[in-house]
Amino acid sequence: MKYIASCSFGKDSLAMILTIIEHSLPLDEVVYCEVMYDNTTSGEYPEHAEFIHNKAIPILELVYGLKVSVVRADTNYKEQFYRPRTKGERIGQATGFPTLWSPWCNGYLKRKPMQDYRASQSEPLHEYVGIAADEPKRLERLLKKPDVSAPLADYNITETKALEMCQAAYLLSPIYSTHKRNGCWFCHNARLCEMKQLYIEHPELWAHLAEMQSAAWNSFTKRNSIFDLEERFKKEEAQQ
Ligand code: SF4
Repeated sequence: MKYIASCSFGKDSLAMILTIIEHSLPLDEVVYCEVMYDNTTSGEYPEHAEFIHNKAIPILELVYGLKVSVVRADTNYKEQFYRPRTKGERIGQATGFPTLWSPWCNGYLKRKPMQDYRASQSEPLHEYVGIAADEPKRLERLLKKPDVSAPLADYNITETKALEMCQAAYLLSPIYSTHKRNGCWFCHNARLCEMKQLYIEHPELWAHLAEMQSAAWNSFTKRNSIFDLEERFKKEEAQQ
């Protein structure tokens, strides 16, 4: 059996790894699935990507002696967005933004590369996932899967405690100073305040979304296009 820890480098994943180390649980490899916007731009917020590659991975490898593998899909968000549709009314048009009903980003860019990683392994896997003790719904779903466990829940570690553990170990991503959770900067599920943050702090990334919105058959979220959001943020700024 090979023991792997799925890690997003968020507070819960990293606190899980610290818990595994503290309790001497078996661990062979830390596996991080990085969603890419295009061939060179990460889907992570730039500050989180910087933390992952220049701080957290070196600490896990050099301080804790862990093997860390970065897994990526053989495609990216931009490529899938522009992929011509082959079915339905809009044959030939760009696929467009993922929706609540068709969250293709998750399937192509997260689930598929992890399935490929699992399929490439020669021995059975046991996977640790970073679900805290105070996330009952996620835990309930998790416990239905075989060969998966949640060390944070097993040791009664809550989300607040996980954050404190990462802070104490110098392993807390700067993303938590502005966001509750980490996720892709182009996430259609992001909260309005997070989108506003992206608009203000990362205009170069916002410009990618505006360009895509011009080519999309659908709006970025169910209610708002990128241009609606932009107008709203501009008005809010003018009122300040
Ligand atoms: S965080 Fe959002 S954009 Fe990224 S894969 Fe998940 S649902 Fe898609």
